[in-house]
Amino acid sequence: MSASGIDFERLAGSGIRKLRAYDPGHDLVALRRRFGVGGLAELGSNENPYGPSPRVREAILAALDDLHRYPDPLGGDLKRILAAKHGVASAQLLLGNGSHELLMQFAQVFAGPGASVAASQYGFAVYALAAQASGADFIAAPAFPRRHAMARGHDLDAIADAIAPSTRLVYLANPNNPTGTWYGAAAFAAFMGKVPENTLVVVDEAYAELADAPDYASAIPLIGRYPNLIVTRTFSKAYALAALRIGYAVAHAELIAVMERVRESFNVNAMGLAAAEAAMGDAEHLRAGCAANIERRDALARALRDRGHGVYPSQTNFLLVEFGPRSVALESELVERGVVLRPMAGYGLPECLRITVGDAAENARLLQALDGVRNGP
Ligand SMILES: *Cc1c(COP(=O)(O)O)cnc(C)c1O
Repeated sequence: MSASGIDFERLAGSGIRKLRAYDPGHDLVALRRRFGVGGLAELGSNENPYGPSPRVREAILAALDDLHRYPDPLGGDLKRILAAKHGVASAQLLLGNGSHELLMQFAQVFAGPGASVAASQYGFAVYALAAQASGADFIAAPAFPRRHAMARGHDLDAIADAIAPSTRLVYLANPNNPTGTWYGAAAFAAFMGKVPENTLVVVDEAYAELADAPDYASAIPLIGRYPNLIVTRTFSKAYALAALRIGYAVAHAELIAVMERVRESFNVNAMGLAAAEAAMGDAEHLRAGCAANIERRDALARALRDRGHGVYPSQTNFLLVEFGPRSVALESELVERGVVLRPMAGYGLPECLRITVGDAAENARLLQALDGVRNGP
């Protein structure tokens, strides 16, 4: 019996009983205390090393005078800016406390006990969590094999084949985390042609701003054609606002209206709203940050390949890299040198580590640490 004398496990809903909490990686607060400011290269969470537009800081300082007020529960100003950007109506937008919140709520609203939710085997970890928390069954469709141009990426044919009569929701990530891989517009059009209209498709575009492959395309322009299509975006990555927790979904207005029923009225805070509006007004900052990331991503990939490591193709701000059976030990040794990466054993990829592309100094530090570990302490 437990210390409390109460079996909380049994009191929890059936979906929750089988769940393991999302693994956020290392205790960074403790590591920052140990290595000091600037002593740590934080390359484990796909954050943007360049930070947000300077306009964000000004907007937040201005918002400080109204901390006693609730934020705008409708997020009207931000929605108007987003609607204009994407060519949709404000009623087609749903704001979230990060897109993570919305990804969880899609399953809560549209799946549940008796339903199933499908995603690719190496899709973002939140999808399985969302399915199971809702009480639905999770179906993992096989990914492309390791020896494939899109190694371990989404095989849209396999995902379509995995859709069962009970499947209410499919989660795709384009580009995907943790693989970094993507799929092209033609493959997606063929996929949508096979999905039954009562099965909703969520396309998580957390890294869309960082994708520049010629065959990459956002799914947002297809929403008018497919009422069962939902696209999510975030301000956490390219816009560098991870701390403020702000994301959004674009879909048919009738679908959004159903989602609004479970949204907490003040789920997006006033600082987040002000910051996102300001960030959207600085297109040049966004462009420069993405361009720098793409350049450093390709340079880091080359440097790692030169050292003999397998690097997966990436359209994101991170690289999935094969280090072989030494991966787990290597990751610990790097932490001892103040370089934090993300282990991949939880994804069933124990031979890989996920490396966020940092700024020039952080990437140099990573390579130096890797060379140091290789040559012994
Ligand atoms: C980082 C990330 C998110 C964004 O999460 P937020 O809650 O918006 O910070 C969503 N999906 C994927 C695939 C991600 O990597």
